[in-house]
Amino acid sequence: MEINSENIVRRDHYVAGKRISVLGAGRSGLAVARLLLNKGARVFLSDNRTTEFIRSGCEKLKKLGLEYELGSHSENIFAGKDLLVISPGIGIENQVVVEASKKGIPVTGELEVASWFCRNPIIAITGTNGKSTVTLMLDNIFKAAGKPAKSAGNIGTAFSNIVENMEAEETVILEVSSYQLETIGTFHPDIAVILNISPDHLGRHKTMAEYTKSKLRIGENQRNDDVMVLNQNDSIVRDSDIPGEAKKIWINNIGSVENGAGIKNNNIFLFLDDEEKEIMPAGDLTVPGSHNVENALAAAAAAGSTGISHEDIAKGLSNFKGLEHRLEFVDTVKGVKFINDSKATNISAMIAALGSFSGSVILIAGGEDKGSDLSVADSIVAERVKTLILLGEASGRMYDAWQEKVSVTIKVESFEDAVDTAYRNSKPGDTVLLAPGCASFDMFTSFEERGITFKAIVHSLKK
Ligand code: ADP
Repeated sequence: MEINSENIVRRDHYVAGKRISVLGAGRSGLAVARLLLNKGARVFLSDNRTTEFIRSGCEKLKKLGLEYELGSHSENIFAGKDLLVISPGIGIENQVVVEASKKGIPVTGELEVASWFCRNPIIAITGTNGKSTVTLMLDNIFKAAGKPAKSAGNIGTAFSNIVENMEAEETVILEVSSYQLETIGTFHPDIAVILNISPDHLGRHKTMAEYTKSKLRIGENQRNDDVMVLNQNDSIVRDSDIPGEAKKIWINNIGSVENGAGIKNNNIFLFLDDEEKEIMPAGDLTVPGSHNVENALAAAAAAGSTGISHEDIAKGLSNFKGLEHRLEFVDTVKGVKFINDSKATNISAMIAALGSFSGSVILIAGGEDKGSDLSVADSIVAERVKTLILLGEASGRMYDAWQEKVSVTIKVESFEDAVDTAYRNSKPGDTVLLAPGCASFDMFTSFEERGITFKAIVHSLKK
């Protein structure tokens, strides 16, 4: 099927001359404020933070007519406003958002607003884990096929930043989070992918049911000429009632499927429109683990649905090198392999990491505690982990959950201590794996900072 982007109307009339407040002046907030100003809206931006990044971002938009306030929120957010646009970092339970709704001001999100100005076909990817990987696998496949595409969304560049500069033939490959989907209205991907749904971000979404509902909203505006790629091996995805009218196709990383992408004799296959096409041996992917086979299948199914050939899909997948902080090989020190999976910020990602290596694993885990159920990892921890090094806020709970399952469990205070202790407890042939299963914010500003710190310590061990 070729992507069909007919009937996508521009919504300039939604915003020209309107008074619009934007809440949150991070990357996405600043991008949507600029877009709205360019489209003729009168924009008021409000953020209760005052960082240099925010201040200089706002100053730059002043010449386009931006009015803004930093450090606190005032009544100006509401006064005479036609619309409130919220950044993904702000939940719908935020006091300002609730107040705006009470005053009858419509509320929407950055993803939705950007989509009003996008005429190009959209492939949107959501799921608890693997979104960035699939987004970039697809980007690689489009490059291999010589088809123009831009990736954006949760992955780095806000959707609002690219919509004004799209070439006619370009496809948007969009990583979308549950936070962004929470506030959509008409957002409509031609192809949607739901990779998996497992516990994460429950601080914001409160229940699994709410979290799942947000993710599934990716399909709600799809029509019967659109495609929805779904994971057959994820019980929540498989058993959920998917909204929208899209044609469903499936991925299965352990077997064949009737329609979609699956595995046969260890090869990745596409089964689309009653045609079966072999792509490549799953073992030829350079990224490890069966979860990455799942990601490759999702990318293949989405790319195949746009008409990209199986040869180009194979080319794009086989030269995909993986991303920093996702099972990233750091170095080998005296025969011990060090792997940085700092992006494993939830238990499912940690489980996927542990399933990706053979041999003895020394696992460094812990960080900001999301309160998730640890027992789901009991069996893989028992089976795969030789030594467990724990640190951070969640270390107590992880200790209680797993210390009886592994022969050695050590709690440490600092990150340097963690890497050092892991190294001292290893022998040639072992793998030291940083897969924290937790967010990083108790000790770092981001998972990137945690991963970079890990790599620096590993490199210093070599000296
Ligand atoms: P996201 O953008 O959804 O956070 P990433 O591709 O950045 O996903 O990967 C996040 C973490 O999840 C990494 O630790 C990675 O190894 C792991 N991961 C990637 N794909 C999957 C998958 N399909 N299932 C489970 N874990 C995965």
